[in-house]
Amino acid sequence: MVYIVANWKMNKDSKQSKSLMNEIVCFDFYDSSKINVIISPPTIYLSQLKNRRSDLAAQNISNYSNGPYTGEISSKMVSEYVSYVIIGHSERRQLFCETDEIISEKINQCNNENLKSIVCFGESLESRNKSHHLDFIRKQLDNIINSYDKSSINNLILAYEPVWAIGSGNSATVQEICEVHDYTRSILNDNFGKTIGTTVPIIYGGSCTKDNAKPILANLNVNGLLIGGASLDLMHFKSIIKEANEVT
Ligand code: PEP
Repeated sequence: MVYIVANWKMNKDSKQSKSLMNEIVCFDFYDSSKINVIISPPTIYLSQLKNRRSDLAAQNISNYSNGPYTGEISSKMVSEYVSYVIIGHSERRQLFCETDEIISEKINQCNNENLKSIVCFGESLESRNKSHHLDFIRKQLDNIINSYDKSSINNLILAYEPVWAIGSGNSATVQEICEVHDYTRSILNDNFGKTIGTTVPIIYGGSCTKDNAKPILANLNVNGLLIGGASLDLMHFKSIIKEANEVT
């Protein structure tokens, strides 16, 4: 299965969201048994966008299950509408001070509701420039993987998103992506054994476009794409799914 995840972030109004989703659900050119298109709109639109063709993902949930947390939304609340939740996006880590501990708590909240977590990890530009990126990533991955056991690991999708590639128009190269995805796969295999380790999807995000989608997806340990900017444009997003369809 190839996962194509669209992260709309805090973009589109109600009418625009409905209109874009209506177009996406009409895509009939791809094989949905091979490609899973997951749309992550702003939370307030989840109820109006629920449909039979595309899965939905929440962009965030609270690390608490319920209580006096003004403005927060729990995993149970979103579970009525979504099967997936994006956790640990670098924007949340950086702008909203989400620590590894908070990310573990959010993963636990998802596991409690049997929601699948799309958990983001990826190095800063500084660590990449110093060639410390694998150490940087290892720490994040250890924290994520420690939140799972053999019975819950099928709820995990890992998303490698180098911080410097997000929204920059400067995607990681195929070689850089493969280095990290292959490393991540080896860590999963070491922790869970090869039979289980190879089943965890590892997707890539960071300035994906219709032009780089295919060469990125053509690699053994790249199981999908997480797309920000390019997912907001109907024709561009459609082209990316077409490219993915050719690779599967
Ligand atoms: C993202 O924010 O997860 C992302 C991948 O954004 P973009 O595609 O715009 O780089």
